[in-house]
Amino acid sequence: MGQGRGWEGAVLRLLRAKDFELTVLDAEDVTPRYRRLRMDDGGLLAATGVHPTMWVRLWFSADGRPHQRAYTLVDPDPATCTFALEFALHEGVASDWARAARPGDTVEATVQGTGFQEPDPAPSHVVAIGDPASLPAINSLLGALGSAPATVWFEGEPAGLPDRTEAGRHEVRPVSRRDAGAHLVERVRAELPAVLAATPDPYVWIACDTATTRTLAAYVRKELGVPKQRVHALGYWRAD
Ligand SMILES: Cc1cc2nc3c(=O)[nH]c(=O)nc-3n(C[C@H](O)[C@H](O)[C@H](O)COP(=O)(O)OP(=O)(O)OC[C@H]3O[C@@H](n4cnc5c(N)ncnc54)[C@H](O)[C@@H]3O)c2cc1C
Repeated sequence: MGQGRGWEGAVLRLLRAKDFELTVLDAEDVTPRYRRLRMDDGGLLAATGVHPTMWVRLWFSADGRPHQRAYTLVDPDPATCTFALEFALHEGVASDWARAARPGDTVEATVQGTGFQEPDPAPSHVVAIGDPASLPAINSLLGALGSAPATVWFEGEPAGLPDRTEAGRHEVRPVSRRDAGAHLVERVRAELPAVLAATPDPYVWIACDTATTRTLAAYVRKELGVPKQRVHALGYWRAD
């Protein structure tokens, strides 16, 4: 048992090294369904560094047990040890916590699983397909990929959201969420081939609900033949 506890202790110490307590500094209702919290990072950025589309696992408790939810760092600033979190609000423990969050409230965060591989060669055109949950990541991605033009298929209502695309270089195509994402898939199937035909080194980034993400990723890789290292696909939420 002694040995077991030692091993467990070592694992816990390793995990704890990546655990941080975040504190709410400010809260802002960007729209009635999108809330931004500015956070003190609890030492996170200094310990882990920063990369584009970086995300953390936040811990919430409900029904007497912990629930882990992923959120993207917005404007991480190691100099001030702060970043923001932007919550697309719906039902759920994370959304409920964010709705009620006030300055001084705290939440635990674990940094594990996040990463970013700079596409090489640099993209001649970026294709991003997402929704309000992945908007913070899309903003970060487009900021990181410099001067490449981009086409963004955005599922949901973009009005009032903190969209950082640049008119002229980035084109946003809003698509209403219908039929559990099937409408988005149809639009992408109808429109993406023409975008890809006009560019030599595209980079495709997909972050919708898990089922839609899977369908789109398979379409882009298998039917359109985009090499797998030029496609990044990660489901951001699970639809019921
Ligand atoms: C790497 C990564 C980064 C992410 N970054 C962000 C971020 O910066 N901001 C953000 O808002 N989300 C982000 N998400 C998505 C977020 O983690 C999920 O939406 C999560 O399920 C929300 O938890 P919840 O407790 O509020 O709802 P849950 O308890 O998970 O779900 C409750 C109900 O809401 C539905 N639901 C869950 N998420 C959504 C949604 N996005 N839209 C509509 N219905 C939903 C579920 O189907 C369920 O019916 C990210 C996900 C990943 C994987």
